[in-house]
Parts: sequence; C-alpha cells; structure tokens
Amino acid sequence: MSRDRRESQTPWSQSVSDVLERTDVSQSEGLTEKEVERRRARFGPNELREAERRRWVEILADQFKSFIVLLLAAAGIAAFVLGDVIEGVAIFAVLVINGAIGFVTEMRAVSSMESLQEITEIEARVRRAGEENGIPAEDLVPGDIVVLEAGDLVPADLRIVEPSKLQIDESALTGESVPVGKTSEPLDEDVPLAERENMLYKGTYVTRGSAEAVVAATGPDTELGHISASLQEAAEEQTPLQQKLDDLGQKLVPFLLVVATIVLVSGWLRGQDLFLMVETAIALAIATVPEGLPVVATLVLARGMWRMADRNALITNLASVETLGSTTIICTDKTGTLTENEMTVAEYELANGTVEVSGTGLDTDGTFQHGDQELDEPRDPVMQEALEVGVLCNNASVTEQEGETDATGDPMEVALLIAGLKGGLDRDELLDSMPEAREVSFDPSVKMMATYHDVNGDYKVAVKGAPEAVIESSTRIVTGDDTEELSGSDRKEWLQKSDRMAEDGLRVLALARKEVDSTENPPYEDLSLLGLVGFIDPPREEVRSTIQGCQDAGMRVIMVTGDHAGTARNIAHSVGLVDTDNVEVVEGRQLDDPENLSQEEKDRFVNASVFARVNPANKLDLIDLHQVVGSIVAMTGDGVNDAPALKKADIGVAMGQRGTQVAQEASDMILRDDNFESIYHAVREGRIIFSNIRKFVLYLMSCNLSELLAILIATLLGFPLPLLPLQILFLNVVTDIFPAFALGACGGSRDIMDRSPRNPDEPIMTRTHWTELGFYGILISVATIGAFVIGGSMHAGGMETEEAVTISFLTLAFAQLWHVFNVREVTSGILRNEVTENLYVWGALGLSTLILFGAVYLPGISLALSTTPLSLEGWLVVFGMSLIPLGVGQVEREFRRRFEIPQLDF
Ligand code: ATP
Repeated sequence: MSRDRRESQTPWSQSVSDVLERTDVSQSEGLTEKEVERRRARFGPNELREAERRRWVEILADQFKSFIVLLLAAAGIAAFVLGDVIEGVAIFAVLVINGAIGFVTEMRAVSSMESLQEITEIEARVRRAGEENGIPAEDLVPGDIVVLEAGDLVPADLRIVEPSKLQIDESALTGESVPVGKTSEPLDEDVPLAERENMLYKGTYVTRGSAEAVVAATGPDTELGHISASLQEAAEEQTPLQQKLDDLGQKLVPFLLVVATIVLVSGWLRGQDLFLMVETAIALAIATVPEGLPVVATLVLARGMWRMADRNALITNLASVETLGSTTIICTDKTGTLTENEMTVAEYELANGTVEVSGTGLDTDGTFQHGDQELDEPRDPVMQEALEVGVLCNNASVTEQEGETDATGDPMEVALLIAGLKGGLDRDELLDSMPEAREVSFDPSVKMMATYHDVNGDYKVAVKGAPEAVIESSTRIVTGDDTEELSGSDRKEWLQKSDRMAEDGLRVLALARKEVDSTENPPYEDLSLLGLVGFIDPPREEVRSTIQGCQDAGMRVIMVTGDHAGTARNIAHSVGLVDTDNVEVVEGRQLDDPENLSQEEKDRFVNASVFARVNPANKLDLIDLHQVVGSIVAMTGDGVNDAPALKKADIGVAMGQRGTQVAQEASDMILRDDNFESIYHAVREGRIIFSNIRKFVLYLMSCNLSELLAILIATLLGFPLPLLPLQILFLNVVTDIFPAFALGACGGSRDIMDRSPRNPDEPIMTRTHWTELGFYGILISVATIGAFVIGGSMHAGGMETEEAVTISFLTLAFAQLWHVFNVREVTSGILRNEVTENLYVWGALGLSTLILFGAVYLPGISLALSTTPLSLEGWLVVFGMSLIPLGVGQVEREFRRRFEIPQLDF
C-alpha cells in the first residue's frame, strides 16, 4: 500500500506549501508523536529491506543439518531397534544438548552483532512537536521534517523545503561525482531522477550548505530501496577470519574420517563388536570435526568489539577487527586527536606590533598586552578590526548564561569569538549593524573562508584562512586608519612571521578584509591584510605515552595534518612523535604528482613522520606509498573529502565528535571521543581477539586429537576401547567446551603490545602451532592409555572392567581440563598469566569438574555412560596421570624459552 501511495505522488512537481499540506505537517512544528506512531504503523521502519535477520527457528534448524548429526541420529535409532534403550536415549540426549549449545552460542553471537550494529547506526535530526532532536534514521516516517547540514547522509527520500547554499553528492545514485546544487522550486512532473533539483535521495550526502526537508518516502519505498537488494546481501558475508576457520574445519574432515574408518576397521578386525565400533567411529567424527569454530570465533569477535566500544572505538566493519591487530602504520591528524582541540587566541601579529592576549578556554576575561602596555579602549584601529573580522567571518556561537559560557562550532572559531568578547565585541550586536549578506564556506583546498556584510549598501568582506593563502591574496596591508601597499618582500616577511609563530607551536590564521559594492565580487582578490592570529591548542596529556606504546608495539605513528609545517613539527616533537625539533616535514604539495616521484623521494616520504598542509587527495597518495611496501595503514579523517582515504586505508578511522556522517560511513572504526589513545586500545583489543581465537582453536583441536589418538592407539595395540562412544560425546558436548569458551575471554598477555604486528597473511595455525597440537595430542592420549593400563592392572578383570574404562575416561577428561593452562604465552609466567588470571577459566574448570563427578556419581548418568565410582587408588591414578601432560607441557615451555626454539605465539 505504501508503494502505491509513494508512486502516485510526484512531490517534486508540487510547491513546498502543497507538499507540506499533502503530507499534513507544519515546517515549524513537525509531526506530533501520536502522528509519528500512526505513520510508523502504516509505513514501517525506515530500513531498506526488513534486514535479513536469521530467525531463531532457522538457527535452531541449522544445528541439526550436518551430516554427522544425521549419522548420530541413525546410531540412536539403531540402538533403539537393537533394544538398547538406555543407549538410544543417551544418544538423543547428547544430540539435544549439542544442538542446544550450538543454538545458544549462535543466538548470542547473532544478537550481539545486531546490537553492535545498532550503536553505529546513523542519526537524523528531525523536528517533531516543535522540538529538534537526533533520532535513529530508522525511526523516520513520511512527513517528518529533517534538518541537514554539510557532511550529513540523506536518511530517506526527501522533498526540499528550505535549502541554504545546498550541494549534494549524488554519485551513489547517479554515478556523477560532481556535487549538484539544489533548490526548493517545483519542477515538471516528468523530469528524470538525476534532474530533480528539489529532491534529496537516500544514500546521497550533503557536501555543502544546509537544508530543511520533508520526508517523502522511507525504507523500501525510497529510490535506493528499489535497487538495494544486492546491498543487503553483501552485509552477510563472512569475514576472512571466519572463512579461514571454516576452511580449517573443512580441511580436517577427510583426515578425521580416514582415522575414524581405520579405528572402525581395525577394531572390528580385532574382534570388537561391529555396532560398538560403528558408534565409536561416529562419536569420534562428531567429537573431532571442529564445526563450531566460526561461531565461537564470532562470539569472541563480538565480545572484543563490545570491549572496544567501552573504550570508545566503534567497529563498523567486522573484518577490520582482525586487520587492526596487524596495523603497522597509524596516520593521524593533529587537531583534536593529538591535541585537545580547545583553542585559545594567544597573540595577534599586526602591522604595528605584537599583541598578546591573556586568559584561557571559554573564559571571557582577558587582557590585550602590547609590549609593556595594556591596551584599553579606544583600542588601536588595526587591533579593533582584526577582532571584528575574526568575529564576523565565523560560524560558531557562544552564549553566556548565569556566568556559564556555552559554545558550539569549530573550536578555532569559538576562540575568535571569545577573543572578541574579551575586547567587548559581541557577534550578534555586530551583525545587527552589518548583517551577513553572503558566506563563502571554508574549503580545505583553498584554505580560506569569507563572509560579506552589508554596510550602508556597500559590503565589507571579512576573510580568514591559512596564512600563505591569505597573504598571497592580499595586495595591501592595514596599518592604522589607512592601508599601504604590500610588496613582494613584505609578503615574505609576513610569511616568515607566520613560520615563527607556527614553530612556537601556535596554530596560525591570517585575517584580511576589503570593501566591495556587490556580493558578486570574488572573495579572495585584492584583500587588505590585517595580520596574523596565533592559537594555543595544548597536546592531549596521554598522547605522549600512547605514542610510545604504539612504537613499542611495532607501529609507526605519522602525523598528517592540514596545518602549517612549523606547528606540525612543534606539536610532533612535543608529543614525542619525533625525537628532534628539526625533523623534516613533508608538505602535501610534494605528493601532488605521485606518478613522477623518484624512488629516492618515495623512500623519503615513506620514512617521514610529519606531513603538513595535506589535503584529502594527498592522503590517498600517502596511503598508497605505504601500502605498496606492504604496510597495513590506519588513517584518521573527519571531513566529507576524507571519505575516499578512509575507504582506501586498511583501517579507516573516523572521528565520532568532529566527524561528518559521510566520513563515519566510509570508515571501519569510529572514535567516539576523537582521541588518539582509543586507536591504541582498539589495536590492542584486536590483537587480543586474534590471540584468544588462536588459543581456543589450539586448545579445542588438541583435545579432540587426544581422543582420536587414544582410541586409535588402543585399537592398534589390540586393547579394548579406553573410551566408550557416549563418553566421547559427553566429553565434547559437556566438558571441554566450557574451558574453550573461557579461553576466548582471556585478557591478553602482558607483552601483547611489545611485539611486532602480526603478518596478516599468517595462517591461524602456523607450523609451530601444528607441531604443538600434535605434541599435546600425543601427550594427553599417551597419559590416558597409561592410566588405562594401570587401571586395568589394579583388578583381575583387566582393562575390560568398568573401573579401568572410568579411569581412562576421567584421566582424559581432567587432562583436557588442566590442558587449558598449557595454552599460555611462552613469555608469561607459569603461575600468573593471561589464562590463570581469567576468572572464566576457573569458573569453567569448576563447572566441568562438577559435571565429571556427576558423570560418575549420579546413578542415571553413570548408567548411561557405563562409569562406576572409583576407589581412592583409582582417583589417585586419574589425578596423577592427568597432571602429566600439564607438567610436561610446562617443562616444554620453559625449554623453548631457555633454548630459544621458535616461540609459540598466540
Ligand atoms: P588537522 O585537523 O589535520 O590537524 P587542520 O584543521 O589544520 O588540520 P584543515 O581543516 O584542512 O586542517 O585546515 C587547513 C588550514 O585551513 C588550517 O591550518 C587553517 O589555516 C585553515 N582553516 C581551517 N579551518 C578554517 C576556517 N574555518 N576558516 C578559515 N580557515 C580555516
């Protein structure tokens, strides 16, 4: 129904007032909450397609779809048919428990992922019941009044109501990447989509200006909704890590099936009961095929992502979690990431001297000091005008209420407003006498901004920007009430002044103005320079130690800033990013022609640590230079123009506070607090996740291998079975998964950030891991067989007795439990390490131990498992033998460490 309604309308052909009337909404009030409810019920959520959530029934059904489970079910039925009711019931119980655990794990993984997605969802600003608020874009309904500004993604299909210098990038929809201007005027009914200048379509974004617009269509009714089927499917892909785990499992299947067949045939040839051997082979196959690895990995990933979110790093792309741990280069911007982004004007450099400004932050008390003399009103005219231009050419706002100062907007512009207030200039009052007639917004490639102000029919143009740009555009200099010509040598002198200020660590802007008779006059020609203004932006306190931490972790930190080389160098030095204060700073323009760089230049740039006056296009080339030599690059960005660089980087990092929605959408990670430290923590977490996944893979697979080998060795030696089929199933389904899950929650070894980044091509299981896997498998199985032999020799019945089998079963089970302590880092201590410090591990061991006692002492279960209570000697054998693999494992660890045999890294 909603589609009919949408298609019967052509909102672009109606006037704004008609559209508002038809959608039954007022621009100033928006919809009422009640109306919103009604429309939501009618049109549904603003999602492209009911996201393809796997429903719980499907997830449950998936647990029982595997071939091996079917085999087991067949064995269960066979047991019933052969009249062995207990066996049959037990097999089905195992099936159910196995399915339930798989189901719960997968449900948790899925819901964890879903809620993670929710916290990274895009917000829309809407006006409802007269109030403007941010809401999840998904909650928009047709008729909502949406407020957009530069950098915002268009959250639904909208009809523009009130545009202001609006420009939109519609490339996602039309393929045309040049931003298009927009109006609110009605158009012909039959204009094609790409020419509907009064419409905004979901999936496009605002590059400039701002707008108010009314929602015309949401969710599947939007133009994007009509073409989006393929987009949704892409989101379901497995990450490389999940894929690798899946492959690992698949690769093992033939091998395991061969071993199971050998067991079956050799056992049968040695006179064992055929049905028992078939059951054993099936149980082994079930026990050893690591089907669940990808799901458990998802859980570990999700947990890691939550932990990152706690530390202010939101991951928007699951696959990047693993890349994070391999990051070798972090390119970070300066302002706000390395510095506080709390700016204060410290000095003005004017034609008639230097004026220092006192006071910090938002405090509007402060004085102006010219040499020894404090400036009082009437102030020097140049100073007065410099303050005025700073206040006029400005988009920030500062309000003072009951002694509290509140500021919004670019911190540099806020600082200029505060400086104005210190000098008695209030923006609103100034604008009353000279209203703004035009604004030419700040453009990072021009590095300037201008505003035109109406002064009795003529216009005053106020300009601020990067010193080299403004000085270049100036032909005169304001010296008092007059101006003088600015010669080539004067320009040079001013540039030197600005360099000197920058080298002192100040962020420097130049101010200029001119008078024109029309707003059509170009903004950046024939300006009269007023002077320079220097801002302090203190480095963040924790940055120095974090940079050191990154360096210890084998990552290089590179500053990539739009700011002046001198400021960049000074800050880089003061945060410890470089050792000396005369390090080479590469300017963005040196990268302008990447094709023609000599090898020597490329090497120099790859080794450089500070890049200044960088524009978004330079960032792309820089990433390229590093990626070509095999680095894994993380790059920060916040503006609309940074989106390509964020996409190109291995890890695109967008700023949560300063960043535009466009940058956030293009990124793999969003820093909620814009803080460099959060990148470090995210990398650390990425490394921990990978090492935990390795831990549980190695643990689980060595446990499985030990079961396989124990049975194989026993049958080859002509022994009876040391483990019965149900016992094998019981071990896998009930006991060893708890420690394996717990390993996924380890906190990471102490030296995890003292190592080099992992090579991203390195497999999950390296040769060393496979060797170790074999070693542990043999160790545990030999201990089990040993216990079996001892158990068999304790009584006349030999190894055929229930007691002997119980002993070998428990030995294997406990050996597996203790084995968790073997999967620690070689470099961590025997007693205090990431495994022993993980409380979940202790919890899991406690629980599994209880279950194992239950398996022996609870009559029903012990009957099904054919176990029997043990004598004290029996228990001594169990504990003695089960501790051997742990002891030997630890000795081997020390041995490796002493003799520097290839380390086993996690
Ligand atoms: P970063 O955030 O990487 O540390 P940046 O903020 O200096 O650097 P850009 O935003 O690209 O980088 O700005 C480049 C230069 O343009 C600034 O150094 C400054 O000189 C000038 N500039 C920045 N913002 C404005 C503005 N709002 N008005 C006028 N000039 C500006």
